Amino acid sequence: MTELNAPQPPADIPAALPRFEDFGLAAPVLQSLAEQGYAHPTPIQAKAIPVVLQGRDVMGAAQTGTGKTASFSLPIIQRLIAHANTSASPARHPVRALVLTPTRELADQVADNVKAYSRHTPLRSTVVFGGVDMAPQTAALRSGVEILIATPGRLLDHVQQKVLNLSQTQIFVMDEADRMLDMGFLPDLQRIINLLPKKRQNLMFSATFSPEIKKLAASFLTNPVLVEVARSNATADRVSQVIYKVDEEAKRDAVVHLLRERELKQVLVFSNTKIGASRLSRELERHGIRAAAIHGDKTQNERMAALEAFKNGSIDVLVATDVAARGLDIAELPCVINYDLPYNAEDYVHRIGRTGRAGASGDAWSLYSDKDARLLADIEKLIKQKLVPALIEGFSGRVSRQTDRGDRFERAERHERHERSQHRGERAQPPRKEKVDPWFLKPYEPSLPAEPKAEPVPSNAKTSQPVRRAALLGGVRKS
Ligand code: AMP
Repeated sequence: MTELNAPQPPADIPAALPRFEDFGLAAPVLQSLAEQGYAHPTPIQAKAIPVVLQGRDVMGAAQTGTGKTASFSLPIIQRLIAHANTSASPARHPVRALVLTPTRELADQVADNVKAYSRHTPLRSTVVFGGVDMAPQTAALRSGVEILIATPGRLLDHVQQKVLNLSQTQIFVMDEADRMLDMGFLPDLQRIINLLPKKRQNLMFSATFSPEIKKLAASFLTNPVLVEVARSNATADRVSQVIYKVDEEAKRDAVVHLLRERELKQVLVFSNTKIGASRLSRELERHGIRAAAIHGDKTQNERMAALEAFKNGSIDVLVATDVAARGLDIAELPCVINYDLPYNAEDYVHRIGRTGRAGASGDAWSLYSDKDARLLADIEKLIKQKLVPALIEGFSGRVSRQTDRGDRFERAERHERHERSQHRGERAQPPRKEKVDPWFLKPYEPSLPAEPKAEPVPSNAKTSQPVRRAALLGGVRKS
């Protein structure tokens, strides 16, 4: 496994950039930053922290891996310190900051960060997300927390159960807003916004800025300051993008070759179809590469097991469809491979945004065959960059030697595409998205009470013991 244990080195930070001390952050916050090993703010932090401290609304253009979590968490903690108290009364600990994230994994990561940064203050924080028992979350909410990190559906569950009052929320953060819209959370977001006081500070972060995102921003941000570290829809500078020209029927062998030759670990491979993902994963395993597929036809247990195996290093390659990968929130990987070029160019930006983290570089490799010319052109137009095809010797200009098995597979894959386009009343176009699976794209539905507990729910900062655990977002953290 890639070494993720040490604190991430700061992204190229010129000496002239401010230090955390320059923002006027309180001593307990500076102490926790020193413990994290952060000496200097990353560019997004340098830009966002002063603006958030002023109480302004912010529209942040930043991908995961830029240090954006601290760019909003640190000034939130600083702004709330005036309210920090050690009273046992829940009434003295109302929710004052609400952070919404699209997935449980991201929610957990943000919560870990908030806990780490606020550990020397009496501020309380907790996280609520779906798929786990509500009872411990309810207990944490009832005892009072100032900073709440949540996924939209589970937050509304708690509102419906009347354990949560958001009427004192001063700061509202929407993290990865583009993914929230992609995942169908817009109605939930609107419901949640209606529960918040009209007068509040709003922070919105998004990796891409589609017209829908701009519309959402216009509807709830007031005179926002645009804070960006990369051009909108720009691909991370640190990601090295290579397009390999291969014959269509040589793609699987080419992936095996790349994985073997470079001895790659922790690789996320994207397939456009569920059947393609499954088949590629089986093929990799046949070649002795530890792999698993994750997509909408897998059970929740299978998906959780695959993700866990990927995180703990017992498999090296996860083959995923776009929708499945979105639900998983796996990021900061050393390498992402596009086995298929995505049908939608924005998905390319999302996919390669999984690699490269603060201060580190990443590889994004894509396989490309003659039939992908239009998809490649769309991507190049979006990222405003020409991707020059490279060759892997022996994998292009081959004579087709498709087997019966290959034919059957191609037919099944065509059938999967055809079914979807029929479903959407379309004819020739390839599918825009995998058929919606509730685990990945969960609009608000009240949960059944007390599902069996699947993951420990972090309790608030005061009671949690420092633990070290592997995570793909930011490596091993103390919480
Ligand atoms: P994020 O984009 O918030 O997910 O952060 C990406 C990674 O950068 C995480 O591992 C953080 O722990 C790390 N990080 C955030 N801020 C800094 C900093 N100022 N210096 C070094 N690493 C940082």
